[in-house]
Amino acid sequence: MRTYFGGGRRPIQVCAFCFYILEVTKTFLKMDKLKIVTELKKYFKVQELVDRLTYQRWGESAWNFLDGRLLEVILVLRRDVLKVPLVCNDWLYGGKNEQRGLRTNLSPLVKQKTDKNVLYLSQHNMGCAVDLVSAKMTAEEMRKLIVKNANKLPCKLRVEADVNWLHIDVMDDITKKDKVYFFKA
Ligand SMILES: [Zn+2]
Repeated sequence: MRTYFGGGRRPIQVCAFCFYILEVTKTFLKMDKLKIVTELKKYFKVQELVDRLTYQRWGESAWNFLDGRLLEVILVLRRDVLKVPLVCNDWLYGGKNEQRGLRTNLSPLVKQKTDKNVLYLSQHNMGCAVDLVSAKMTAEEMRKLIVKNANKLPCKLRVEADVNWLHIDVMDDITKKDKVYFFKA
């Protein structure tokens, strides 16, 4: 028996033959975004992935501004790989963090760049990145576990190296061959 990780689906035990067939057909078995969001809501409120202004304007529809690949990666990391509570934005709970998920034209980090006429193509601006921390694990421990479990991820993942938070994004750099690859900001 082998453990099959079908992207955002729950892991299942299958025989070696079924494992092979499932791996081959994986690309045709993609979870749709609604299923991913429904599953992910067990672990995150949308307020944790967008800022206050976005939530005030769009409410639950704010899920639509977040890339489906990113949401599936967060689900798989939380449920199947890291298996510890992860914190993104905490403004909803009285914290100061609002820019760890989606960033808008009014997010200070973005606005400051615009005001200075500086180009800023952060994946956060595209709904393709999150910064996560955990009380149970350091960022370095999380990065090591992610590399070790790269086969469980539904797509290629870009990870920021040498920072004390976990930045992940789904930029999908065509020059990179590794499923999980690193960059320095
Ligand atoms: Zn980041």
